[in-house]
Amino acid sequence: MKLCELFGQGRTVFSCEVFPPKKTAPVDSIYQTLDGLKDIRPDFISVTFGAGGSQVNQTTREIAALIENQYHIPAMAHLTCVAAGKEDVDRLLSELKEDGVENILALRGDVNPAYPPKTDFKYAGELVRYIREQGDFGVSAACYPEGHLESPDPVSDIRHLKEKVDAGAQHLVSQLFFDNDDFFRFLERVRIAGINVPIEAGIMPVLSESSIQRMVSMCGASLPSKLTRILARYGDHPEALREAGIAYAIDQISDLIAGGVEGIHLYTMNNPDVAKQIAGSIASIRKV
Ligand code: FAD
Repeated sequence: MKLCELFGQGRTVFSCEVFPPKKTAPVDSIYQTLDGLKDIRPDFISVTFGAGGSQVNQTTREIAALIENQYHIPAMAHLTCVAAGKEDVDRLLSELKEDGVENILALRGDVNPAYPPKTDFKYAGELVRYIREQGDFGVSAACYPEGHLESPDPVSDIRHLKEKVDAGAQHLVSQLFFDNDDFFRFLERVRIAGINVPIEAGIMPVLSESSIQRMVSMCGASLPSKLTRILARYGDHPEALREAGIAYAIDQISDLIAGGVEGIHLYTMNNPDVAKQIAGSIASIRKV
């Protein structure tokens, strides 16, 4: 199933993102994550693609195949220009096709100084076009409610997003954000720009101060005062921060759904218990 078919059915799509286990973690730990996520029946699960070259990224393919064939949940494999040249892309696409994985999130990626970047595709739009030309895959792409960090201004960012959609991206997933007004303003701008594909809002529950500060410094998302108060008050109390972070994410999601967003993409950080708690709290809200 191509993911764009999930939208427009009168309910909010709910999807989850997982990452391949780190080298230091047992590879089997992904089963624990997926066993937990299958109980909440997400519409699809996406699997990130590391910066460490295509060999390393066999794991993305294997996990996507597992989700599709063993858990019977549609899977979306991420793929980046910087880690995969044309040959790698051709090989991965043919393997994913064999595995029955039909959806790809086409990204540029960020250069990891430890690995020289591949140069066959410069921007995600080129990868989107190339994959769509193969004809077999649903292709999604990333978008940035607060603008991409490298972008000189929101206008050029949205212009490049439009090019990416015109190149064949059928569905967009947003970068994490914490202020819904940023997302609603972004939606208004992209619709005016003639970008009409479904857009999912990326939500990351805040569970630890250090990890959220790291994420924010990497992706440039801003922290609204409501959230900085939570971090200041509960930052040194992991249990309290976890409760407050989950409550914040639920509040964000119910407001987004009330505002008519088409989909919620939960960055699970491979934590199925948190995903379950959030999914349980929005189960009725999603159906209205
Ligand atoms: P692009 O769409 O290529 O945009 C990158 C920058 O170039 C933007 O500033 C854009 O405005 C500009 N631009 C685009 N086209 C042009 C053009 N033709 N001319 C000039 N400028 C242009 N990274 C990973 O390594 N692995 C992952 O699995 C992963 N998953 C992600 C999932 C989501 C939902 C998101 C939001 C991000 C993810 N990332 C991942 C991070 C992503 O790779 C980075 O944010 C990266 O910096 C940009 O990727 P992109 O696909 O948005 O790039």
